[in-house]
Amino acid sequence: MMMRLTLFFGALLGHIYCRETFVGDQVLEIIPRNEEQIKSLVELEAEEHLQLDFWKSPTIPGETAHVRVPFVSVQAVKVFLKSQGIAYSIMIEDVQVLLDKEYEEMLLNQRRERNGNFNFEAYHTLEEIFQEMNNLIAEHPGLVSKVNIGYSFENRPMNVLKFSTGGDKPAIWLDAGIHAREWVTQATALWIANKIASDYGNDPSITSILDVMDIFLLPVTNPDGYVFSQTKNRMWRKSRSKVPGSLCVGVDPNRNWEAGFGGPGASSNPCSDSYRGPSANSEVEVKSVVDFIKSHGNVKAFITFHSYSQLLMFPYGYTCDRADSFDELNKVAQKAAQSLTSLHGTEYKVGPICSVIYQASGGSIDWSYDSGIKYSFAFELRDTGRYGFLLPANQILPTAEETWLGLKTILEHVRDHPY
Ligand SMILES: [Zn+2]
Repeated sequence: MMMRLTLFFGALLGHIYCRETFVGDQVLEIIPRNEEQIKSLVELEAEEHLQLDFWKSPTIPGETAHVRVPFVSVQAVKVFLKSQGIAYSIMIEDVQVLLDKEYEEMLLNQRRERNGNFNFEAYHTLEEIFQEMNNLIAEHPGLVSKVNIGYSFENRPMNVLKFSTGGDKPAIWLDAGIHAREWVTQATALWIANKIASDYGNDPSITSILDVMDIFLLPVTNPDGYVFSQTKNRMWRKSRSKVPGSLCVGVDPNRNWEAGFGGPGASSNPCSDSYRGPSANSEVEVKSVVDFIKSHGNVKAFITFHSYSQLLMFPYGYTCDRADSFDELNKVAQKAAQSLTSLHGTEYKVGPICSVIYQASGGSIDWSYDSGIKYSFAFELRDTGRYGFLLPANQILPTAEETWLGLKTILEHVRDHPY
């Protein structure tokens, strides 16, 4: 009882003194029936005073859109949707209820982990993630090491795990968490790191991959944003860089790569959640990855983890033209999605970014592909909208396990098709 009370007041104080709250905010699922309704939704999104947060933008008629509506705008938005005859339902009744639960679970887990056992079925602070990375290195000194590729805007280390059996081999790049609030991706990356380390020498597949290739894994690509999403605003997506001449903070680091930079599907408004930044590579987090990959010079696969929507995508996003390697990438992605689905039945959609979601410029896998890294893929992990970015911690493990099967299928293809 005492512990519950402590947790309760801890959570309460946390919210009062430093965290933005989302009491009464709702997430609506909207299904536009035709182009006209999509146009109305796009106009709605542009109404800055409503402070809408589109978790999933409207794309084509019949496809769902998801939007978090602040409490003060809920009535106005519903009236608007009804007046336009646009169908909607309530996906999340009260965002803060989920946040309180998530926060309480994190606090409880921190108590449980005092015995030193890392629990992969929980969300963790950046510090805890770094600590676990160090533990992994200590447990597998002959296989795992740490490479620092730079520092974030707020001077946090960009720490990459390197899995190598020695020598200079062609490499596979993996990253997660470039968007801060997509917490299941950082957690999945950490589980995958542990899986690679413990399966090497036991699982023939990962063993044969590591015999010919190195794997680099960056679990928290946007450390400043991740910390901010845990301490101030759970809905934070961008970096935390200061933009000269604007009061708004941060750049969408997945619109900041030098690939169709400034084109459609990225905003030039510093206050937008998809703000592309003043120039390509303006974000030090992006620049650090670019510099590392260029200086390595022999990266053969670039795979990035986002959430949510259950998609496995490949280039392009900045154009709807087919990539040269479309047929091969599509075949590999289809196969990977099949093996992913085989574990828990989780359905994935597969295709180029432009056709699966929407045209979006300045994305990382377009940059890697255009830089000569043929095997460039982006995962959007669970779910399809029941919880969205607020995926409960008890889904981390099944998400990571199924993702691993999909990832392994891609890596096996890379191993068997050197170029
Ligand atoms: Zn994302």
